[in-house]
Amino acid sequence: MFAIKAKVYGIIQGVGFRPALYNALKKYTGWVRNSSCCVEIYIESNRILNIEKIIIKNKPQNAFIKSIDSVIFKIKKHAYNSFIIKYSKGDAQKNINITPDWGICKKCEQELFDSSNRRFLHPLITCTDCGPRFSIAKDGLFDRNNTTMNAFKMCKMCATEYSDSSNRRFHAQTISCKECGPKYFYVKNKQVELKDIKAVKKAAFDLENSKVGLLKGIGGYHLICNAFDEYAVEKIKYIKKREEKPFAVIAKNIETAKKLAYLSKKEIEILNSQIKPIVLAKYKDERLKFVNLKSPFVGLMLAYAPIHLLLFYFSNLECIVATSANLSEFSLIYKDRDAVNFDGVDFVLLHNRKIIRPIEDSIVHFSLNKQIIFRYARGYAPSPFYLKGVKPNILALGADMKNNIAISLKDTVILSQYTPDLSNYENYEQFNKKVNDFLSFFDIKKVDMAICDRHPNYLSSNYARQTFANVFEVQHHKAHFASVLLENNYTGDCIGIVLDGTGFGDDGNIWGGEFFVKMDKTIKRIGHIKNMKLYFGEKAIKEPYRIAASYIYDITDDIEYVKSLFSDYTDVIELMPKTPYLITSSAGRLFDAVSALLNIKHKNTFEAQSAMLLEYEAKKHKTSKILDYKIDNFVVDFSMTLKTIAKRRDLVSARLFHNTFVEAIYENTMSISKLTGIKVVALSGGVFQNDIVFSLLYKKLTKAGFNVLFNSRFPINDGGVAVGQIYIAKEGLCV
Ligand SMILES: [Zn+2]
Ligand SMILES: [Zn+2]
Repeated sequence: MFAIKAKVYGIIQGVGFRPALYNALKKYTGWVRNSSCCVEIYIESNRILNIEKIIIKNKPQNAFIKSIDSVIFKIKKHAYNSFIIKYSKGDAQKNINITPDWGICKKCEQELFDSSNRRFLHPLITCTDCGPRFSIAKDGLFDRNNTTMNAFKMCKMCATEYSDSSNRRFHAQTISCKECGPKYFYVKNKQVELKDIKAVKKAAFDLENSKVGLLKGIGGYHLICNAFDEYAVEKIKYIKKREEKPFAVIAKNIETAKKLAYLSKKEIEILNSQIKPIVLAKYKDERLKFVNLKSPFVGLMLAYAPIHLLLFYFSNLECIVATSANLSEFSLIYKDRDAVNFDGVDFVLLHNRKIIRPIEDSIVHFSLNKQIIFRYARGYAPSPFYLKGVKPNILALGADMKNNIAISLKDTVILSQYTPDLSNYENYEQFNKKVNDFLSFFDIKKVDMAICDRHPNYLSSNYARQTFANVFEVQHHKAHFASVLLENNYTGDCIGIVLDGTGFGDDGNIWGGEFFVKMDKTIKRIGHIKNMKLYFGEKAIKEPYRIAASYIYDITDDIEYVKSLFSDYTDVIELMPKTPYLITSSAGRLFDAVSALLNIKHKNTFEAQSAMLLEYEAKKHKTSKILDYKIDNFVVDFSMTLKTIAKRRDLVSARLFHNTFVEAIYENTMSISKLTGIKVVALSGGVFQNDIVFSLLYKKLTKAGFNVLFNSRFPINDGGVAVGQIYIAKEGLCV
């Protein structure tokens, strides 16, 4: 007689792992239970079993097994007379294997529309494979008692299913039905008017009739309306005080999505996956023009909560606007009270399952069929990333403009959900909460090291400096570079190309177009985009004509010429020579400058707008010509390029600039490679969200024989800085 003890590590909680194992092992005697960082199994058997094989064969679809340890020993007799699921063991260290929130699975979708099923049209249907997780969990141990589902007592039927090993909701922590589960309410003028299915029907009817509503989904509230209804979309623009930024939409199903946008296989795959992020895809249906404005892309999602499916079911709608309920760049609304008091909407459709932490929709884009993450939130956070050798109890605070923090546990790094611009006080409060929440959620009692950006004025950095004893500061773009090394698990020598907006540099200037070389344990800045004088400080970022004016003035020293370029702003430009300036090597600012020079955009209404519009314009022109530039001692100088563009001011220059920019970056990389002998290059920074820059440079470098690494698992923009900060500390890199 043998007994086998096994410990399974990985993403195994909240995925129906214990029930699946129970079913596979119930012919034996023993038990399965959750404990610290793993699922433990004990089996008694007359013969030796290949337990690893059994576990892998029976793992549920969303489980990810990192490793399995097992021991076999001889026993004299059975200690158990059946196979049981033991209750969770309260360990000293909490289980970290919480999963992100998941979009509705195919089986639940079928049940939702099966009139013979008892969950027919249940707007909060879930199972072991799908539904909310992180957003409703009080701590890392995913048991119903630790979630906001504990407010709902299971009815008899649900309790039976929960304890029936042959049922697919066996031990589904979020199990509920129409009788016992949370409910939807239709609220108008702060009064509940309808509930249950009537509430949903009324909301669907309203949407068909140009009404605008607030909808509570999984991690927060959306502002919703019919995406093809110009009047309703205008209303949302007015509410969000956002005239020009495109809105994300939910398509009825994948067939509709394919009609709305050009979708690659990869894009369809991720839309259908349970991550269900917003995919930025090129749109083809003209009816999307109300939500897209000047963008050729649409932010497309598939229904990820059952309520989305029901709104389509009860209406003729094909596509719904679903944009975060907030003012632009403010925190997402997730509390019912805030939603009910929200001004300007016709109705609120909410449910009574509490959201513990707000989680926005994630945004991804595919360049050359490779996933680039723009926003890391629902579906991604807080999935663990295994990093062998990383010490626990490190906290990395990330960056300010797009904030994702990161923590380390033993051999694991976890990147948090996104918070927008911290300079907004509400967002800063949210960030503050997020830090404390993360530490307690993952049971970090004492932070051994806090890592922040070197920026003297970043709020996240000042928070670290004021709160923690042991603070380590990392230069922004070096963290970007390191984030690529981390996610590619690459420890060798490497050239780093970081093309970004702005970050505080080691020399006190503003960096953003940087060439690094990592050799052994040292990262050195070997080159950069030539420093330019930037007047008007922060204001210039919001009004790119000021950047263009600064740069052209810096290049020509002729203020009259600059005034002639921007005749609408002569009074502002006149002051320029007498005002203070910064020195910057930013790549992003060059795109802003060119956009303004070409009169594409003089003033931004949202972050990076002018650069995005420049990219869209460039995509219209099919030339591979380049303009003049200069490289001197690894410093890339675009003065001549800008001068030429200021003279031409034709729209094809949008493309010429992209070509020139990539060519110069490529040439400099080649020279650095020649000098160092390194043929591995890492790409990171917000400018790589630009599809032309990423694709063109990637192709050129690959063709030249480089091994090109980039961010795909983590955001390529500032959202990925925190994991890079941890990597620098972990590797003991000398920066
Ligand atoms: Zn399901
Ligand atoms: Zn029930």
